[in-house]
Amino acid sequence: LESYEALKNALAEVRGQFGRHYPLIIGGEKVETRDKIASTNPSDPAQVVGYTSKAGAPEADAALDAAWRAFQGWKDWSQEARTRVLLKAAQIMKRRQRELEAWLVYEIGKNWGEAAADVAEAIDFTRYYALSALKYKDGAPVVPFPGEDNAAFYIPLGVGVVIAPWNFPLAILTGMTVAPLAVGNCVVAKPAEDTVVIAAKLFEILEEAGLPAGVANFLPGDGAEVGAYLVQHPRTRFINFTGSLEVGLRIHEAASKLSPGQIWLKRTFLELGGKDGLIVDETADLEAASLATVQSAFGFQGQKCSAASRLIVVDRVYEPLMERILNRTEGLVVGPADENPDLGPVASAQQENTVLSYIEIGQSEGKLALGGRRLEGSGYFIAPTLFEGISPQARIAQEEIFGPVLSVIRVPDFDAALEVANSTRFGLTGGVFSRNRERLERARREFHVGNLYFNRKITGALVGVQPFGGFNLSGTDTKAGGPDYLLNFLQMKSVTERF
Ligand code: NAD
Repeated sequence: LESYEALKNALAEVRGQFGRHYPLIIGGEKVETRDKIASTNPSDPAQVVGYTSKAGAPEADAALDAAWRAFQGWKDWSQEARTRVLLKAAQIMKRRQRELEAWLVYEIGKNWGEAAADVAEAIDFTRYYALSALKYKDGAPVVPFPGEDNAAFYIPLGVGVVIAPWNFPLAILTGMTVAPLAVGNCVVAKPAEDTVVIAAKLFEILEEAGLPAGVANFLPGDGAEVGAYLVQHPRTRFINFTGSLEVGLRIHEAASKLSPGQIWLKRTFLELGGKDGLIVDETADLEAASLATVQSAFGFQGQKCSAASRLIVVDRVYEPLMERILNRTEGLVVGPADENPDLGPVASAQQENTVLSYIEIGQSEGKLALGGRRLEGSGYFIAPTLFEGISPQARIAQEEIFGPVLSVIRVPDFDAALEVANSTRFGLTGGVFSRNRERLERARREFHVGNLYFNRKITGALVGVQPFGGFNLSGTDTKAGGPDYLLNFLQMKSVTERF
């Protein structure tokens, strides 16, 4: 209750700061451009939450230069000193927790619980990477060899580009930025266009924590323009990307081409989409399964790469399970995010169009069981939607919708369920509700996803607890928040000296 009061105060305070302008940050300097990005409140799009300057190619060049200059110093800081600065940043985030939550409520339409989880994850990422970086400072052991002194140690890559999505606009941007920094790299960060204000807050915090100028540069701008420009740039050493499959493929291709003057192979880390399946068999606890389904499908309006978008139900429990799910879903409240509803608005007019067009496709592919429409109000409100009678190969069962739409697929038995679960090109999260030990063991081996959950919801990976990242077209399996994630941003050098 105390934290609810604190959040209410923060919401009021943040409303008072609507409409402010945030500059780019290049080499520690605040840079303003003529072009601006306006960020609006999806619960009430007439409200401008804030503006940022909008970077183009000249600012991108300047930011990469500034980052390489800063790298000359930052790479030689002791690991303890780098770790200390980042732990300080985590501390500041913790102190400003409620304020950050309030920005997420207004800028992207998260309800209070979802906003709190986003901020908590940002803090967890920062602490985890800052501390895990310490384990690489002494290099790795090598096999002794007579007559020689051999050593293998880690050095940072240099300067990379971070390109982030809007759906976890603080946590993912923070994680993708802080990890390379922790082990001595510098970055140029391009946040998603819809969430530039919360992104600006992160860079304020890094500066306040004492991160040297130029180590992290803040470069909001258009993805297809400045994002693409940064990716192909000869001075970009690595690209840390989270977003859609479509853009990820473009980045992968562009980064594999050598630009004039480029003297390295770019490393690309791609965390992409999902079409995540949840299996419920006839031995499952149906009460628990129905709750987890609704949470996994409709949390943050289904706009999570980890969201359940396919429910695969074994025939024998189909009716009783669906009855429970329909009841629960009917009870969900949709409304403005600052009123802490179950579901807020979807993120933007573009998201709204995409989701509504998939709902139309769904009408021809199956039976609309619930929802399926836009709701009254000025925001982008869409009723939580369920389709039944969907074939595993239907478009709404195969393509990532990224909204509050769940396709229900009925199967004869567990074998069929597992086959359907694996029949997508993605492989991010998945889940099984069952009390049958043998089946769970089989799913453990054969359900081909990066993050598998039994008898619980399939969203909400904790940093350090469930290393997160997908198989197949869900990405490069980079495993954010995992024990080896930082190795992505390091290269190993061996030195041999003859006695
Ligand atoms: P998006 O791919 O549209 O945009 C992501 C970022 O890429 C934005 O900053 C955008 O400006 C930029 N961009 C766009 N075109 C570009 C180009 N040609 N070159 C360089 N950058 C470009 O994705 P989104 O709509 O912001 O996010 C939703 C997607 O992200 C979903 O597919 C979701 O599954 C995925 N996602 C994945 C994970 C994961 O961990 N696997 C986590 C969150 C979101």
